[in-house]
Amino acid sequence: MTLTIAVDIGGTHIRVAAYEPNSTVPVSHHRTQSLAQTPGVYDRLMEAIKQVWQDGQVSAIGIASPGPLDPHAGVILDTPNIPEWDNFPLAAKLTEQFGVPVYLDNDANLAGLGEWRYGAGREHHDLVYLTISTGIGGGVISNDALLQGYRGMGAELGHMLIDPNGPFCGCGKRGHIESFASGPSIVRYFNEQLDAGQKSSLQSHPNLGTAQLAEAALGGDSLAISAFSRAGHYLGIAVANFLAIFDPSILIFGGGVSQVGDLLFKPFEESLHKQVFHPHYLDDLVIAKAALGDDAGLLGALALARMKSDEIK
Ligand SMILES: [Zn+2]
Repeated sequence: MTLTIAVDIGGTHIRVAAYEPNSTVPVSHHRTQSLAQTPGVYDRLMEAIKQVWQDGQVSAIGIASPGPLDPHAGVILDTPNIPEWDNFPLAAKLTEQFGVPVYLDNDANLAGLGEWRYGAGREHHDLVYLTISTGIGGGVISNDALLQGYRGMGAELGHMLIDPNGPFCGCGKRGHIESFASGPSIVRYFNEQLDAGQKSSLQSHPNLGTAQLAEAALGGDSLAISAFSRAGHYLGIAVANFLAIFDPSILIFGGGVSQVGDLLFKPFEESLHKQVFHPHYLDDLVIAKAALGDDAGLLGALALARMKSDEIK
């Protein structure tokens, strides 16, 4: 019983990898389409696990999945990404199938866990991880433990309320930090300003991405610059709240939007310094880029399975 299997269920792909003890380099891996809108996700997942399975060798399976989910019960609640998984007992079904313990948590929590164990957050005991892409996800390590909460719904940092009268969030409520600082929110604000008559070198376009916006901003486009600095301003407010709650020694930023760099992070840091409750929170605070890239979920699932297995021993 030496292998741990890690699974990352993404919007387009399911990735599965098997790891020997103390290694983060897989001995085998397999990738299949998740096509979450197409029925049969569970069967595709099962087949993918069989591809890396070795009889008698596997000790546990860890899974990073889109939420909301209940990590304590191993149940997917009602993730909008996979409509057929409604109150779906994923861990129990896989345990029945493969005969090993199965642990799961949401992808952002596990990306945070992965960064802590194997990435940018090693040596830290209190960590806040934020991924900024089409949405905003969060993961928190507090005093060397993954914060999951009573219901397993903890650390939904993207849905921190900033302004109840603010724009609509991906979740349907108003004014969460995701509605100000996710990629689509930045583009939405930019398009709204164009429609209101502001000038830019770019045309209003629903498929505009933050990469194009960043290019325009770097070329001096003042509207594009202001779209990022507005997002950075609100991100600073959200993170000031996170510092007051979690008091981390490191903030780690992942996700595509965080790749824009200073356009977002200069105004973010200015805002954070202005909004933070006490300047002592900023002493020795490390602000780092995520180190694991696309492997964060997979390595977080690996870390979760190893940690839970150690607890049982
Ligand atoms: Zn929300």
